Amino acid sequence: MESNDQNSEIPSGTTKKAIDRFKNLQQKEIHIQSIFDGIISKKPAALSKGITLIESTQEEHTIKAQQLIEKCLPYANDSIRIGITGVPGVGKSTFIEALGNLLIQEGKKVAVLAIDPSSTISGGSILGDKTRMEVLVRSPKAYIRPSPSGNSLGGVAQKTRESIILCEAAGYDVIIIETVGVGQSETAVHGMVDFFLLLKLAGAGDELQGIKRGIIEMADAIVINKADGDNKNRAQEAKNQFRKALHMYPTPQSNWSPEVLSCSALQEEGITTIWDMIQKYHQLTTTNGFFNSNRATQNKFWLLQTIDNQLKNSFYNNPTIKKILSQQIEAIQQHKITPFAAANYLLKLSKTHNSS
Ligand code: GDP
Repeated sequence: MESNDQNSEIPSGTTKKAIDRFKNLQQKEIHIQSIFDGIISKKPAALSKGITLIESTQEEHTIKAQQLIEKCLPYANDSIRIGITGVPGVGKSTFIEALGNLLIQEGKKVAVLAIDPSSTISGGSILGDKTRMEVLVRSPKAYIRPSPSGNSLGGVAQKTRESIILCEAAGYDVIIIETVGVGQSETAVHGMVDFFLLLKLAGAGDELQGIKRGIIEMADAIVINKADGDNKNRAQEAKNQFRKALHMYPTPQSNWSPEVLSCSALQEEGITTIWDMIQKYHQLTTTNGFFNSNRATQNKFWLLQTIDNQLKNSFYNNPTIKKILSQQIEAIQQHKITPFAAANYLLKLSKTHNSS
Protein backbone atom coordinates (compact mmCIF):
# COMPACT_ATOMS: atom_id res chain seq x y z
CA MET A 1 0.00 0.00 0.00
CA GLU A 2 2.68 2.40 1.08
CA SER A 3 4.97 1.49 -1.82
CA ASN A 4 2.10 2.07 -4.27
CA ASP A 5 1.65 5.55 -2.85
CA GLN A 6 5.35 6.21 -3.17
CA ASN A 7 5.51 5.00 -6.76
CA SER A 8 2.43 6.96 -7.73
CA GLU A 9 4.40 10.14 -6.95
CA ILE A 10 7.10 9.23 -9.49
CA PRO A 11 6.24 10.61 -12.94
CA SER A 12 6.28 8.03 -15.75
CA GLY A 13 9.40 8.04 -17.89
CA THR A 14 11.65 8.85 -14.91
CA THR A 15 15.11 7.27 -15.17
CA LYS A 16 16.14 4.47 -12.79
CA LYS A 17 18.78 6.72 -11.22
CA ALA A 18 16.22 9.40 -10.49
CA ILE A 19 13.82 6.82 -9.02
CA ASP A 20 16.60 5.54 -6.74
CA ARG A 21 17.38 9.05 -5.61
CA PHE A 22 13.70 9.71 -4.95
CA LYS A 23 13.31 6.51 -2.95
CA ASN A 24 16.47 7.24 -1.08
CA LEU A 25 15.13 10.64 -0.15
CA GLN A 26 11.89 9.10 1.04
CA GLN A 27 13.82 6.62 3.14
CA LYS A 28 15.73 9.52 4.69
CA GLU A 29 12.42 11.22 5.45
CA ILE A 30 11.33 8.07 7.30
CA HIS A 31 14.72 8.09 8.98
CA ILE A 32 14.16 11.58 10.40
CA GLN A 33 10.72 10.53 11.60
CA SER A 34 12.17 7.47 13.30
CA ILE A 35 14.94 9.49 14.97
CA PHE A 36 12.30 11.94 16.14
CA ASP A 37 10.04 9.14 17.41
CA GLY A 38 13.03 7.65 19.24
CA ILE A 39 13.93 10.98 20.80
CA ILE A 40 10.48 11.71 22.16
CA SER A 41 10.20 8.16 23.43
CA LYS A 42 13.37 8.98 25.38
CA LYS A 43 15.74 6.61 23.62
CA PRO A 44 19.40 7.68 24.07
CA ALA A 45 20.48 5.93 20.85
CA ALA A 46 18.05 8.06 18.84
CA LEU A 47 19.27 11.18 20.63
CA SER A 48 22.86 10.30 19.70
CA LYS A 49 21.85 9.78 16.07
CA GLY A 50 20.10 13.15 16.07
CA ILE A 51 23.12 14.94 17.55
CA THR A 52 25.41 13.24 15.03
CA LEU A 53 23.17 14.61 12.29
CA ILE A 54 23.43 18.09 13.82
CA GLU A 55 27.21 17.79 13.99
CA SER A 56 27.55 16.69 10.37
CA THR A 57 28.91 19.30 8.01
CA GLN A 58 27.29 17.80 4.91
CA GLU A 59 24.75 20.20 3.48
CA GLU A 60 22.13 17.50 3.05
CA HIS A 61 22.50 16.52 6.71
CA THR A 62 22.26 20.13 7.80
CA ILE A 63 18.87 20.38 6.10
CA LYS A 64 17.71 17.15 7.73
CA ALA A 65 19.04 18.30 11.09
CA GLN A 66 17.01 21.50 10.83
CA GLN A 67 13.87 19.46 10.10
CA LEU A 68 14.56 17.31 13.13
CA ILE A 69 15.17 20.32 15.38
CA GLU A 70 11.92 21.92 14.18
CA LYS A 71 10.02 18.73 15.02
CA CYS A 72 11.61 18.64 18.47
CA LEU A 73 11.08 22.31 19.30
CA PRO A 74 7.52 21.96 20.65
CA TYR A 75 8.81 19.30 23.06
CA ALA A 76 11.82 21.30 24.22
CA ASN A 77 12.32 24.22 26.63
CA ASP A 78 11.19 22.49 29.79
CA SER A 79 14.54 22.29 31.54
CA ILE A 80 17.13 24.21 33.39
CA ARG A 81 20.36 24.80 31.49
CA ILE A 82 23.47 25.20 33.61
CA GLY A 83 26.83 26.37 32.28
CA ILE A 84 29.96 25.28 34.14
CA THR A 85 33.38 26.72 33.42
CA GLY A 86 36.81 26.63 35.01
CA VAL A 87 40.44 26.04 34.12
CA PRO A 88 41.68 22.50 33.41
CA GLY A 89 42.21 20.64 36.69
CA VAL A 90 39.79 22.76 38.74
CA GLY A 91 37.52 19.72 39.08
CA LYS A 92 34.79 20.29 36.49
CA SER A 93 34.20 16.65 35.66
CA THR A 94 34.39 15.59 39.32
CA PHE A 95 31.91 18.36 40.16
CA ILE A 96 29.53 17.45 37.33
CA GLU A 97 29.69 13.82 38.39
CA ALA A 98 28.78 14.78 41.98
CA LEU A 99 26.02 17.19 40.94
CA GLY A 100 24.69 14.80 38.31
CA ASN A 101 24.47 11.93 40.78
CA LEU A 102 22.62 14.13 43.27
CA LEU A 103 20.13 15.18 40.60
CA ILE A 104 19.56 11.59 39.55
CA GLN A 105 18.89 10.64 43.18
CA GLU A 106 16.25 13.38 43.14
CA GLY A 107 14.61 11.67 40.16
CA LYS A 108 15.91 13.99 37.47
CA LYS A 109 17.46 13.16 34.12
CA VAL A 110 20.72 14.90 33.31
CA ALA A 111 22.42 15.62 29.99
CA VAL A 112 26.01 16.84 29.84
CA LEU A 113 27.27 18.54 26.69
CA ALA A 114 30.67 20.13 26.24
CA ILE A 115 32.21 22.96 24.31
CA ASP A 116 35.93 22.54 24.10
CA PRO A 117 37.79 25.38 22.41
CA SER A 118 40.96 23.28 22.29
CA SER A 119 39.29 20.82 19.92
CA THR A 120 38.64 23.62 17.43
CA ILE A 121 42.20 24.95 17.56
CA SER A 122 44.47 21.92 17.75
CA GLY A 123 42.16 19.03 16.97
CA GLY A 124 43.10 17.71 20.40
CA SER A 125 40.87 18.09 23.38
CA ILE A 126 41.14 19.15 27.00
CA LEU A 127 37.69 17.88 27.90
CA GLY A 128 37.24 14.89 25.70
CA ASP A 129 38.86 11.89 27.41
CA LYS A 130 36.63 8.93 28.03
CA THR A 131 37.41 8.22 31.66
CA ARG A 132 35.67 11.36 32.89
CA MET A 133 32.46 11.07 34.95
CA GLU A 134 32.74 7.33 35.33
CA VAL A 135 29.68 6.81 37.50
CA LEU A 136 27.43 9.20 35.64
CA VAL A 137 28.35 7.73 32.31
CA ARG A 138 26.90 4.37 33.39
CA SER A 139 23.60 5.77 34.67
CA PRO A 140 20.58 5.27 32.39
CA LYS A 141 19.32 8.66 33.61
CA ALA A 142 22.37 10.52 32.37
CA TYR A 143 23.43 11.34 28.85
CA ILE A 144 27.00 12.51 28.26
CA ARG A 145 28.18 13.77 24.92
CA PRO A 146 31.76 14.86 24.30
CA SER A 147 32.56 18.10 22.57
CA PRO A 148 31.84 18.26 18.85
CA SER A 149 34.83 19.00 16.68
CA GLY A 150 34.88 21.83 14.22
CA ASN A 151 37.01 24.58 12.88
CA SER A 152 35.33 27.54 14.49
CA LEU A 153 34.09 28.12 18.01
CA GLY A 154 30.96 29.78 16.60
CA GLY A 155 30.13 26.68 14.58
CA VAL A 156 30.80 24.27 17.45
CA ALA A 157 28.77 26.40 19.85
CA GLN A 158 25.85 26.47 17.42
CA LYS A 159 25.84 22.69 17.24
CA THR A 160 25.83 22.42 21.02
CA ARG A 161 22.98 24.89 21.23
CA GLU A 162 20.94 22.87 18.77
CA SER A 163 21.79 19.66 20.63
CA ILE A 164 20.25 21.18 23.79
CA ILE A 165 16.88 21.22 22.03
CA LEU A 166 17.14 17.52 21.21
CA CYS A 167 18.18 16.68 24.80
CA GLU A 168 15.19 18.57 26.15
CA ALA A 169 12.83 16.82 23.74
CA ALA A 170 14.31 13.53 24.99
CA GLY A 171 13.15 14.43 28.49
CA TYR A 172 16.36 15.58 30.18
CA ASP A 173 15.38 18.08 32.88
CA VAL A 174 18.82 19.44 33.64
CA ILE A 175 21.24 20.24 30.82
CA ILE A 176 24.81 20.90 31.88
CA ILE A 177 27.07 22.64 29.39
CA GLU A 178 30.71 22.34 30.33
CA THR A 179 33.52 24.45 28.96
CA VAL A 180 37.17 25.07 29.67
CA GLY A 181 37.93 28.49 31.10
CA VAL A 182 40.13 29.55 28.23
CA GLY A 183 39.38 31.53 25.10
CA GLN A 184 35.99 32.85 24.15
CA SER A 185 33.98 29.75 24.93
CA GLU A 186 32.61 31.10 28.22
CA THR A 187 30.79 33.86 26.36
CA ALA A 188 29.31 31.32 23.97
CA VAL A 189 28.17 29.09 26.83
CA HIS A 190 26.83 32.03 28.83
CA GLY A 191 24.69 32.83 25.79
CA MET A 192 22.95 29.46 25.88
CA VAL A 193 22.34 28.73 29.57
CA ASP A 194 20.03 29.93 32.33
CA PHE A 195 22.59 29.73 35.12
CA PHE A 196 26.34 30.24 34.74
CA LEU A 197 28.66 28.78 37.37
CA LEU A 198 32.34 29.56 37.62
CA LEU A 199 34.46 26.94 39.34
CA LYS A 200 37.62 28.23 41.07
CA LEU A 201 40.45 27.02 43.22
CA ALA A 202 41.72 28.71 46.34
CA GLY A 203 45.15 30.02 45.50
CA ALA A 204 47.96 31.18 47.74
CA GLY A 205 47.64 34.90 47.18
CA ASP A 206 45.37 37.35 45.49
CA GLU A 207 42.37 35.32 44.35
CA LEU A 208 41.27 37.82 41.78
CA GLN A 209 44.52 37.89 39.93
CA GLY A 210 44.39 36.51 36.46
CA ILE A 211 40.64 36.24 36.36
CA LYS A 212 38.97 38.07 33.56
CA ARG A 213 36.58 40.76 34.73
CA GLY A 214 34.06 39.76 32.07
CA ILE A 215 33.79 36.25 33.47
CA ILE A 216 33.01 37.47 36.97
CA GLU A 217 30.31 39.66 35.48
CA MET A 218 28.77 36.68 33.71
CA ALA A 219 28.80 34.39 36.75
CA ASP A 220 25.60 33.70 38.70
CA ALA A 221 27.75 31.84 41.19
CA ILE A 222 31.41 31.37 41.96
CA VAL A 223 32.17 28.04 43.61
CA ILE A 224 35.54 27.38 45.22
CA ASN A 225 36.22 23.69 44.71
CA LYS A 226 38.58 21.38 46.59
CA ALA A 227 37.56 22.90 49.92
CA ASP A 228 38.81 19.85 51.81
CA GLY A 229 41.77 18.81 53.96
CA ASP A 230 44.42 21.51 54.34
CA ASN A 231 42.67 23.59 51.73
CA LYS A 232 39.60 24.41 53.84
CA ASN A 233 40.92 27.64 55.35
CA ARG A 234 42.25 28.91 52.07
CA ALA A 235 38.90 28.19 50.46
CA GLN A 236 37.22 30.29 53.16
CA GLU A 237 39.65 33.16 52.49
CA ALA A 238 39.04 32.92 48.78
CA LYS A 239 35.31 33.00 49.38
CA ASN A 240 35.63 36.22 51.39
CA GLN A 241 37.70 37.87 48.69
CA PHE A 242 35.27 36.96 45.93
CA ARG A 243 32.31 38.12 48.01
CA LYS A 244 33.97 41.49 48.53
CA ALA A 245 34.77 41.74 44.84
CA LEU A 246 31.24 40.88 43.77
CA HIS A 247 29.88 43.68 45.95
CA MET A 248 31.50 46.15 43.61
CA TYR A 249 29.42 45.02 40.64
CA PRO A 250 25.91 46.36 40.05
CA THR A 251 22.99 43.94 40.55
CA PRO A 252 22.44 42.10 37.27
CA GLN A 253 19.26 42.36 35.20
CA SER A 254 18.08 39.05 36.63
CA ASN A 255 17.86 40.75 40.05
CA TRP A 256 19.83 37.79 41.36
CA SER A 257 22.83 38.65 43.52
CA PRO A 258 25.57 36.22 42.49
CA GLU A 259 26.63 33.93 45.31
CA VAL A 260 30.01 32.62 46.37
CA LEU A 261 30.08 29.10 47.79
CA SER A 262 32.64 26.37 48.35
CA CYS A 263 32.52 22.62 47.95
CA SER A 264 34.51 19.45 47.74
CA ALA A 265 33.44 17.74 44.56
CA LEU A 266 35.65 14.78 45.42
CA GLN A 267 34.07 14.23 48.83
CA GLU A 268 30.64 15.31 47.56
CA GLU A 269 30.39 18.03 50.20
CA GLY A 270 28.48 21.24 49.61
CA ILE A 271 26.85 19.96 46.42
CA THR A 272 23.30 20.02 47.84
CA THR A 273 23.74 23.66 48.88
CA ILE A 274 24.81 24.50 45.34
CA TRP A 275 21.79 22.75 43.83
CA ASP A 276 19.50 24.54 46.34
CA MET A 277 21.02 27.83 45.23
CA ILE A 278 20.36 27.03 41.55
CA GLN A 279 16.76 26.20 42.39
CA LYS A 280 16.43 29.48 44.32
CA TYR A 281 17.70 31.29 41.22
CA HIS A 282 15.22 29.39 39.04
CA GLN A 283 12.35 30.33 41.30
CA LEU A 284 13.33 34.00 41.49
CA THR A 285 13.83 34.41 37.76
CA THR A 286 10.68 32.53 36.74
CA THR A 287 8.69 34.71 39.14
CA ASN A 288 10.20 38.00 37.96
CA GLY A 289 10.03 37.02 34.27
CA PHE A 290 13.78 37.11 33.65
CA PHE A 291 14.03 33.38 32.93
CA ASN A 292 11.85 33.62 29.82
CA SER A 293 13.00 37.06 28.70
CA ASN A 294 16.62 35.90 28.94
CA ARG A 295 15.88 32.86 26.76
CA ALA A 296 14.18 35.17 24.24
CA THR A 297 17.24 37.45 24.21
CA GLN A 298 19.46 34.40 23.72
CA ASN A 299 17.33 33.23 20.80
CA LYS A 300 17.73 36.63 19.16
CA PHE A 301 21.48 36.50 19.74
CA TRP A 302 21.68 33.03 18.15
CA LEU A 303 19.61 34.12 15.17
CA LEU A 304 22.07 36.94 14.46
CA GLN A 305 25.06 34.74 15.24
CA THR A 306 23.86 32.04 12.83
CA ILE A 307 23.32 34.58 10.04
CA ASP A 308 26.79 35.92 10.75
CA ASN A 309 28.36 32.46 10.55
CA GLN A 310 26.51 31.45 7.42
CA LEU A 311 27.32 34.68 5.61
CA LYS A 312 30.98 34.27 6.47
CA ASN A 313 30.98 30.62 5.45
CA SER A 314 29.30 31.21 2.12
CA PHE A 315 31.70 34.10 1.43
CA TYR A 316 34.91 32.24 2.22
CA ASN A 317 33.73 28.98 0.60
CA ASN A 318 32.80 30.71 -2.63
CA PRO A 319 35.31 29.29 -5.19
CA THR A 320 35.68 32.65 -6.99
CA ILE A 321 36.41 34.41 -3.71
CA LYS A 322 38.89 31.72 -2.70
CA LYS A 323 40.83 32.35 -5.90
CA ILE A 324 40.62 36.15 -6.01
CA LEU A 325 41.25 36.61 -2.26
CA SER A 326 44.82 35.36 -2.49
CA GLN A 327 45.42 37.55 -5.56
CA GLN A 328 44.11 40.56 -3.66
CA ILE A 329 46.31 39.80 -0.65
CA GLU A 330 49.29 39.76 -2.96
CA ALA A 331 48.21 43.05 -4.55
CA ILE A 332 47.93 44.61 -1.07
CA GLN A 333 51.43 43.43 -0.18
CA GLN A 334 52.74 44.97 -3.39
CA HIS A 335 50.97 48.25 -2.49
CA LYS A 336 48.86 48.06 -5.63
CA ILE A 337 45.58 48.30 -3.76
CA THR A 338 44.44 49.23 -0.25
CA PRO A 339 42.86 46.58 2.05
CA PHE A 340 39.59 48.56 2.03
CA ALA A 341 39.36 48.74 -1.73
CA ALA A 342 40.19 45.03 -1.95
CA ALA A 343 37.50 44.20 0.62
CA ASN A 344 34.90 46.22 -1.28
CA TYR A 345 35.89 44.57 -4.53
CA LEU A 346 35.63 41.07 -3.03
CA LEU A 347 32.29 41.75 -1.37
CA LYS A 348 30.83 43.10 -4.63
CA LEU A 349 32.23 40.11 -6.46
CA SER A 350 30.60 37.67 -4.03
CA LYS A 351 27.23 39.40 -4.48
CA THR A 352 27.32 39.15 -8.27
CA HIS A 353 28.56 35.59 -8.02
CA ASN A 354 25.75 34.59 -5.61
CA SER A 355 23.00 36.26 -7.63
CA SER A 356 24.10 34.78 -10.94
P1 GDP B 1 38.73 19.18 35.17
O1 GDP B 1 39.92 19.17 34.29
O2 GDP B 1 38.35 20.58 35.55
O3 GDP B 1 37.56 18.41 34.65
O4 GDP B 1 39.16 18.50 36.57
P2 GDP B 1 38.93 17.01 37.11
O5 GDP B 1 37.53 16.83 37.58
O6 GDP B 1 39.44 16.05 36.11
O7 GDP B 1 39.86 17.02 38.40
C1 GDP B 1 41.24 17.24 38.35
C2 GDP B 1 41.89 16.58 39.57
O8 GDP B 1 41.43 17.24 40.75
C3 GDP B 1 41.54 15.11 39.73
O9 GDP B 1 42.67 14.43 40.17
C4 GDP B 1 40.45 15.11 40.80
O10 GDP B 1 40.43 13.93 41.53
C5 GDP B 1 40.85 16.28 41.65
N1 GDP B 1 39.71 16.90 42.34
C6 GDP B 1 38.56 17.27 41.78
N2 GDP B 1 37.73 17.77 42.71
C7 GDP B 1 38.38 17.73 43.88
C8 GDP B 1 38.04 18.11 45.24
O11 GDP B 1 36.96 18.58 45.54
N3 GDP B 1 39.02 17.92 46.17
C9 GDP B 1 40.23 17.39 45.87
N4 GDP B 1 41.09 17.26 46.88
N5 GDP B 1 40.57 17.01 44.63
C10 GDP B 1 39.67 17.17 43.64
